Amino acid sequence: MAAEMSPVTRPESKQATGLLAWEQDRFQRVTAELGLDEATIFALHCAGRSLVVELPLQRDDGSMVVLTGYRVQHSNALGPGKGGIRFRPGVALDDVTALSRLMTWKTALHGLPFGGAKGGVDCDPRNLSERELHEVTRLYTLAILPVIGSDIDVPAPDIGTNEQTMAWMFHAAAEAGRSDPAIVTGKPVLLGGSLFRGASTGVGVAHVAQRAWEHLGHGVAESRVAIEGFGAVGFWAADELHQRGARIVGLADISGAISNDAGLDPASIRDWTATGRDLIDYPGADVVDGSVLAVDCDIAIPAALEGTLTDDVATAMSARLVVEGANGPTTPTAEQLLHDRDVSVVPDVMANGGGVISSYYEWAENHQRMSWAEADERRLVLDRLDRSWDALAVNEPHNWRDRALATAITRVTDAMALAGQVSVRHHRRT
Ligand code: NAD
Repeated sequence: MAAEMSPVTRPESKQATGLLAWEQDRFQRVTAELGLDEATIFALHCAGRSLVVELPLQRDDGSMVVLTGYRVQHSNALGPGKGGIRFRPGVALDDVTALSRLMTWKTALHGLPFGGAKGGVDCDPRNLSERELHEVTRLYTLAILPVIGSDIDVPAPDIGTNEQTMAWMFHAAAEAGRSDPAIVTGKPVLLGGSLFRGASTGVGVAHVAQRAWEHLGHGVAESRVAIEGFGAVGFWAADELHQRGARIVGLADISGAISNDAGLDPASIRDWTATGRDLIDYPGADVVDGSVLAVDCDIAIPAALEGTLTDDVATAMSARLVVEGANGPTTPTAEQLLHDRDVSVVPDVMANGGGVISSYYEWAENHQRMSWAEADERRLVLDRLDRSWDALAVNEPHNWRDRALATAITRVTDAMALAGQVSVRHHRRT
């Protein structure tokens, strides 16, 4: 019965686990601290729309398989939904819901005119041919087309998807009569994509890492950095930090982890992996047993998956600063262990916001039918990250996550109050 529900328990997921449980716990803590009344907490808590779709895919060998896809739109209080689409085995409604909530907080934290959304398809892109991937993307786009659009909800790439996926989505929508470049972001430049979007998340993570490390009293030059994940976020974060003078002493992807205390060159490792070879076989580096985040370093950047920074990893780490490139990489208990040892954690909503900020500019360029110079896009993204960082950094490091969430939740609540969705009178106790 809805009336008896705990304010942060979704009806279909009373025992939330993993990322959704962590997100709900943090939400509960921060909304209680803000003194929000129950009606407001319920309004903030519920997703506006959760769509589950079935995608009948004909494999190349003629056999049929039905894949499940999701799109969750958590909030449109500040504007159209915004959030990536991941193609990954095991993607489920709870993860997508948690990630859509994180997007609501992230767009609000950075002052963007967007709400929060997320999507995904439970599939393994590494086991699908190019034709099959195209077909999954086409089926998924058509299935969610009634609920997406440049003024409704704007998808972008995430794990297992890229600008090719966005090109296919754009085309599938156009074929169905919805030709609008702003329907997705992260597109190829030729289709209206931003010149900086591909690098934006990782470069932003590197920029925030430098700002945070300087805030803690150190210089980025010769700082030792370990990065988990060598995809869209991890590679660009590593490359940018390398260019800023940091020493990349550890890198990892799904093939395993490598380290070299003298420093690794991310661009040359990307050249190596681009030819189909595994990162773990890269010559001139030692293979690391266990998490790369536990390599001896100053700054650890989890930029792969959620939940990889566990209690065991936190206990084994020597880094003084964690910068969350991935969404939800640090478990709550691991974060407590880090705080107990005075290790600072820059939360995901702050650290990896460069991607959605860049998507915002791409969306704005599409509406203007204009294309901006890459240097201008880069400057705008980093300036906005700087503004968010300057406001957050005044707080104690152990409070960075809660302060970021509090800022975001307050903005969303204020927008809902202005729209009459929650009571202005009751939305805050103080
Ligand atoms: P991606 O698919 O491009 O790359 C993921 C990387 O993680 C790959 O290098 C993969 O090999 C590696 N990986 C997978 N499993 C691993 C494991 N067990 N150990 C170590 N490495 C592993 O994905 P991405 O776009 O770089 O996204 C990474 C994270 O960043 C996700 O949490 C995503 O939600 C978040 N994020 C992405 C963007 C974006 O713009 N792409 C924006 C904000 C946040």
